[in-house]
Amino acid sequence: MAIPPLSDLPADAGSLDRATPAAASAVRLEGVRKRYGDVEAVAGIDLDVADGEFFSMLGPSGSGKTTTLRMIAGFELPTAGRILLNGEDVSNKAPFERDVNTVFQDYALFPHMNVGENVAYGLVIRKVPGEERRRRVADALRMVRLDGFDQRRPSHLSGGQRQRVALARALVNRPRVLLLDEPLGALDLKLREEMQIELKAIQHAVGITFIYVTHDQEEALTMSDRIAVFNQGLIEQVGSPAEVYERPATAFVAGFVGTSNLLQGDAAERVFGTAGTFTVRPEKIRLAEPGAAVAADEISVDGRIREVVYLGSETRYYVALDAGSELVVTQQNLVTSSMEALAAEGRPARLIWKRQHGLPINA
Ligand code: ADP
Ligand code: MG
Repeated sequence: MAIPPLSDLPADAGSLDRATPAAASAVRLEGVRKRYGDVEAVAGIDLDVADGEFFSMLGPSGSGKTTTLRMIAGFELPTAGRILLNGEDVSNKAPFERDVNTVFQDYALFPHMNVGENVAYGLVIRKVPGEERRRRVADALRMVRLDGFDQRRPSHLSGGQRQRVALARALVNRPRVLLLDEPLGALDLKLREEMQIELKAIQHAVGITFIYVTHDQEEALTMSDRIAVFNQGLIEQVGSPAEVYERPATAFVAGFVGTSNLLQGDAAERVFGTAGTFTVRPEKIRLAEPGAAVAADEISVDGRIREVVYLGSETRYYVALDAGSELVVTQQNLVTSSMEALAAEGRPARLIWKRQHGLPINA
């Protein structure tokens, strides 16, 4: 799935040149809030997105992601706080005065225009001369692997192709920042996974800062340089995919990005020897026979396998602990058959993990 090079982009490709000091963030939010009547959609957000980053806003429905994106685009004005693009305060500027473009989930293509006209639209508005316009439209269509599609109507395209047109229509303007709101949400799983890889490659090739909204944790982990995890209008954690997954800052992050596997209260005290809240990722836990030997750098806990869910490549075991509480363990089905896995239900077991994989978190 090779992405054609951006070979034809002129060296002075408008907003792609980076003359400004590296110190300024591409996007900066300072104490940003948005209130709709009684609803505080965004409850005070501080954020710095670096130039050229693939940055995701991840969170459940209603957590304030779209509202935040719309404030960056200028479709909504913040109730409080400031928004800076490349160091410049744009809080009160209109959308067209900001060097950003948005790609929406529903594509919002013009049905009466063909693909070429759809992609050229932003350039026509900005009175880019015909020759350059044609070249840039061809570049953008090649980039999204739709060369030769310029005469087609949107209604004669598949969902994935329409999404590519929407992307080309934004890329052709060469914005400094591209905002994407669940752009793959309407696609089926297989196509969505292909487009994730492709989008990431396109972003890498053009070097434009992407801010990507999704409620899908796997999507965010796959594509992002960094992720901000949203909950109820606030950001719970910002970090690389590995940081957010392996070092969740809060119980919410542990549960939303992966399986939470929390141990709290008495159970935590008995297993870890200290009070607090801990999480252990399911794939870090080894399922062993009762009484199995435990190394010095390992922690063990005994329980009974309550339920077994066979998932083909792996099996998920729900284990009720003797100390109270429950942990989920996933095991790759390297040699185990489905029969063997399912037969484990109801049996006693010992769970073992490396001490460093039991993570203390804020409840
Ligand atoms: P997300 O994109 O994470 O699903 P949104 O930013 O769309 O979340 O919404 C955050 C909260 O703000 C929700 O409770 C939503 O109902 C509310 N909200 C969003 N837009 C409006 C609006 N225009 N008027 C009133 N409430 C809104
Ligand atoms: Mg949304």
